[in-house]
Amino acid sequence: MTDKKLHPETLALHAGYRNDPTAKSVAVPIHQTTSYQFDSAEHAANLFALKEFGNIYTRIMNPTTDVLEQRLAALEGGVAALCVASGQSAATFSIFNLCQAGDNFVTSTDLYGGTWNLFANTFKQMGIEARFVDPSDPEAFRKATDEKTRCYFAETLPNPKLNVFPIKEVADIGRELGVPLIVDNTAAPMICRPLDHGAAIVMYSTTKYIAGHGTSVGGAIIDGGNFDWEAQGDRFPTLNQPDASYHGAIWTEAVKPLGPIAYIIRARVTLLRDLGSAASPFNAWQTIQGLETMPLRMRQHCENALKVVDFLKKHPKVASVNHPSVQEGEAKRRADTYLQGGYSSLIGFELKDGLDAGRNFIDSLELLYHVANIGDARSLAIHPASTTHSQMTADEQASAGVTPGYVRLSIGIEHADDIIADIAQALDKA
Ligand SMILES: *Cc1c(COP(=O)(O)O)cnc(C)c1O
Repeated sequence: MTDKKLHPETLALHAGYRNDPTAKSVAVPIHQTTSYQFDSAEHAANLFALKEFGNIYTRIMNPTTDVLEQRLAALEGGVAALCVASGQSAATFSIFNLCQAGDNFVTSTDLYGGTWNLFANTFKQMGIEARFVDPSDPEAFRKATDEKTRCYFAETLPNPKLNVFPIKEVADIGRELGVPLIVDNTAAPMICRPLDHGAAIVMYSTTKYIAGHGTSVGGAIIDGGNFDWEAQGDRFPTLNQPDASYHGAIWTEAVKPLGPIAYIIRARVTLLRDLGSAASPFNAWQTIQGLETMPLRMRQHCENALKVVDFLKKHPKVASVNHPSVQEGEAKRRADTYLQGGYSSLIGFELKDGLDAGRNFIDSLELLYHVANIGDARSLAIHPASTTHSQMTADEQASAGVTPGYVRLSIGIEHADDIIADIAQALDKA
């Protein structure tokens, strides 16, 4: 089967697996095992020396997780993937695979809160500097770049602002300067493929739309195989200089016969080996179940969201609605350039009566869940000013796109009429 020619709906069900060679099972089996029997002393030695690929220990690889990795790589148009325990681990590894103490990377300011803390505090303690820049001006990435800059980082569709990131604009600047762009595509699987627009690496919290059912935390990194690490020499010491933990292997040379996968192999055999944030086989299996219907769900998420936007726009208690479909100017141009087949199911809206109205609205919901999550098959709502962003000052809230009356919705795949009826009755009480 040549995966490249198949459509995403088909890849989500077929890529990376046909049937189990022993039992012939059609559904992907869960290999709930820690370790794997070696065929012989020579076989074991070859596996450890990376002369031959095969299973050694589930912290580093697992056949169930491997199917998920192959499927995600196929869907994104990448060459290989690595699944890890959470989206946070994926973000950590994606940067840590290139940056050492004394290095820096340039990141968009519009980030998930957990990623912000990781970059601003934990990486700082490790001696890695995150340089935050405003993504509305792609040139800001160039200006913040120096010889110690190892990568750029951004989210395709950051919330609550919901301004789509200028992927190609920044990827092009990076390619000129020899710096790869890493994109967190958590909020836009199916509707955006960042690698098609010049990104080098894509990462996900698979916890959200990909697993889709709110059952399993997980993360993934996909290597685009489209960035020439070797050509940049000293820009990438972790890939182009001898690795003391692997008998001095230089990853870009050692891995060359296997294809352009130095980045993702290094992440697996050094970072995952040493830091140990492995995906559990059971969670990988749950995530595969979710992924198989993700394209279908995404379509319904997007379709329902448009109907909710339409309803909110006309409601007298609503001051404004934010969704990529109703943006204007440059923001809308970026949404139309980078989102295809839908504008996602994340919606922000502003209540005319501010903080109390926001709280009352949330407390009056009966169908929508009140949770700090996105991308569940169920519809979700949160009032950022009193929860996720409550530790910020009013100014900080404003710069993050959060006002006192702002509500964020993640629209699910229930019948749109039922979602709208619940929002309508809660607005009556707001
Ligand atoms: C949830 C989320 C993460 C973190 O993922 P976890 O799986 O919760 O660790 C990272 N980025 C974005 C955009 C997210 O929504």
